[in-house]
Formats: sequence, structure tokens, C-alpha cells
Amino acid sequence: MDDFHALLHRVADITSQYRAGLAERRVIASSDVETLAAAVGGPLPAGPTDAAEVVDELAAAVQPGLVATAGTRFFGFVIGGALPAATAADMLATGWDAVAFNAATSPAAMAVEHAAGSWVKQLLGVPDGASVGFVTGAQAANTVGLSAARHHVLAQAGWDVERRGLIGAPAVRVLASQERHATVDRSLRLLGFGSDLVEAVDADGNGAIDVRHLETLLAQGEPDQPLIVCLQAGNVNTGACDDLRAACDLVHARGGWVHVDGAFGLWAAASPGLRHLVDGVELADSWGCDAHKWLNVPYDSAFAMVSRPDVHAAAMSYTAAYLVGSGVLPVGADFTAESSRRGRGFAVWAAIRELGASGVAELVDRCCALAGRFADSLAAQGFEIANDVVLNQVLVSFGDDERTDAVTAAVQQDGTCWMGGTTWRGRRFMRISVSNYGTTEQDVDRSVAAIVRLAAQV
Ligand SMILES: *Cc1c(COP(=O)(O)O)cnc(C)c1O
Repeated sequence: MDDFHALLHRVADITSQYRAGLAERRVIASSDVETLAAAVGGPLPAGPTDAAEVVDELAAAVQPGLVATAGTRFFGFVIGGALPAATAADMLATGWDAVAFNAATSPAAMAVEHAAGSWVKQLLGVPDGASVGFVTGAQAANTVGLSAARHHVLAQAGWDVERRGLIGAPAVRVLASQERHATVDRSLRLLGFGSDLVEAVDADGNGAIDVRHLETLLAQGEPDQPLIVCLQAGNVNTGACDDLRAACDLVHARGGWVHVDGAFGLWAAASPGLRHLVDGVELADSWGCDAHKWLNVPYDSAFAMVSRPDVHAAAMSYTAAYLVGSGVLPVGADFTAESSRRGRGFAVWAAIRELGASGVAELVDRCCALAGRFADSLAAQGFEIANDVVLNQVLVSFGDDERTDAVTAAVQQDGTCWMGGTTWRGRRFMRISVSNYGTTEQDVDRSVAAIVRLAAQV
């Protein structure tokens, strides 16, 4: 046990030193996949190795391959950092090896998921009666939410999809924004809805749904046809949020189900100043939202929420003779596609306990203000900002596509900060996402200085 104690201390040392070093190291990895693969590869170990030696060997071999995604100047994709309490709680979850399956395997995990789920719903403006499944990411959350949608709209048409499948089922209409996230298509595909089935709803200049086009499309269908509409809070390029209230009203008037992909944008609800962006969020039927993006919980962590727990469970749960009911609280595995799961609730609980409602609001507001600072500073240097910066996402052009890509590549190589490239409305842009709890004005100014310096050289 002394050895184990020393081993975990060693891991705490490695982790905290790594985190402390993020402030000054280059953001990109200093090694490439081939070199790293050679360092960790080699023949299958023929026999045992001392645990401390294993950990030291692993850390030494792979740390050059780590990208500073947890640092304060990583602005690629939409990637949050990891709050101190959330990181530590996640390490506890690992140490406990808690199995978040049901109350028999872990009353602790079930109770914490219940408490954290309740807090999450309050922060996101999701009705208190909704069920919450703790899943791996918004991809999984979209799959679960759309499974509930599929169950409900087909049950309304007298079809038990869990029992009979989709062969011979009434045709389901699926509408989603032309600006939907690619994970929505994969979720639909896994549920037996091919990509050709999706009717694309037009989006406005900033990527939010065109509600009048939605209305036109809805009017074209059969009145009683099973209907699923997927909306979005937080366009991955621009941050734009669909008009949830207007869209939900239209879809519900036709008896349809609304799923909201709010991977990061739903967190606008936690800020009194930004809540208007997701006005009407409570009207939807299911929601997907990440914890690992804007809540700054370590990877991986997200929520699949459904307004009707019975529908949620009907779509996702299974029973087997050896499984006993949980009694008071719902069984975590009834709301996810996994059976045995990691205790993701501990880190979520810790993040919200650490920040409180005011801290979450402040985190969201600060990231948006810093995105505005990026946009203002770069515009002042004569660079084009292509989107209306409503949230934490900024699109920058440095001229034609080739030049923009060259500047983005130069910035990535420089290592002061990291931004990705994207295509928006047929043109290439540098995409900046501010999602880390620790990012400061100094981080933004230092990053802008690097971008301006490198743009002048390209
Ligand atoms: C990131 C994102 C997803 C996918 O989330 P994962 O956490 O990577 O599974 C889905 N939708 C939107 C809008 C996103 O930003």
C-alpha cells in the first residue's frame, strides 16, 4: 500500500508540473505520432514491470506528444480546460474505480449524478422534470436524444420501434438546419435514418435557422406524419443560436419532437446577460450538451437530457433477469447507451460546486468578452471578421483562402497559441474559440501579437 500511495503522489507531481508548465510551453506537441509510436511500441512485454517504472516510462515517452489543450492559449475546435476540483474529482473517480451502472454497483455515483444533473438543468434552463444521462460527448448525447425522439414520434403513430425496428415503420420526417453539426448526421445514421432523409432548413447570415423556411417546410408535410426537428444552440463556426422559442412552437403545433444540439451554446443559459440567446430552451423535448467543452470538466463528459424520463428510458433502457431495480433514484444506465460506465458525475458535481452559479455565469461571460477582444483587436489590424460574434467563436480572414490557411498554419507552428482553420460559406477562415476558464486578456493580447507578427511574414 505504501508503494501505491507513493505511485499516486508521483502521478500528482507529474500532473501538477505538467499543468504549471502550460503557461510557457509551446502549445503544439514537440514530437510527432511516428516518433511517439516508436517510443511506446516494441514487442509485447513478456512479463511484469514495477508499477512506478511503468508510470514513469509512460509519462516520459508521451509527454512530448501532448498538445496544450488544457492551457489558456488553445483556441482550436471548441475545447475547454479542466477546473482544479473537476480534475481532482475525476482522479478520485478513477481511484475509486466506481461503476456508474446502478445503485447496486455505486449508490455514490447514482446520488452524485442525480444531484449534479439537477444543478445542470437549473444552469441550462432545462425543466426540472427532465431526465439526465451522463454520456461521453455531444455526439453520444445527440444519439440518445434522437433515440428518444424516434421512440416518441413512432409510438404516437402506433409503432413500437424498439420491438419492431424501422423496417415497415411509418415514414419519419427529419428536419435539421443546413448548419447542423456533423455529429447529428452520424447519430441519425446510427438510428437508421440515412443522410438523404434529412431535409435541410436554411440558415441566416450568421448560421442560425431561418424560421420562415422551417415554417414553409413544415407546411409541406402530411399533418400526422411522425416528425423530428433538430435545432442548434451554438454554431461551431459562428456561435449562432437558433430561435428556439419560435421553432419549438412551430414544430409542436405539428405534433413533432424538438431535439436541441447545444454542445457548448446551451451554456449561454447560465449567464443572465446571454440567456436571451437560448430563449425558449425549456420548450424543447430533448437536449445534448457537453461538460468537457465550456464547463471545463476533464474529457470526456456530456449530458443527454429528455423532458420525459419515461420516453428517455423507453428508448434506452434494457432489462435482464439479474438486474435489480434501483428503487428511489433512476438507474443511470437507463438513460445512456452504455451499461457499465465511468463515474462521470463526480467531476461535473465538483466543477459546479467549485464555480457556483455565479462562477459559471462569469466563465461564460468572460470567454465571450475575450472572443470580442480577439475580434476587435484583429479588426483594428485590418483583418476581416466574418461572423457576428454573439458568443465565444470568431472567424478571421487574412485575405484569400490560401493566405488565410498559410497564416493559420504559421500560427500553429509558432506555438504561442493554437487556432484551427475552417470553411464557412465557401471560404477559408481561421477559427478562434475561447472556452478555457483560465484564459486572460493577457493571453488574448499575446496571441493577437503573434498572429499579427506571423501574418506580416506570410
Ligand atoms: C462539439 C460539438 C458536437 C460534438 O461533441 P463531442 O463532445 O465532440 O461529442 C456536437 N455538436 C456541436 C454543436 C458541437 O460543437
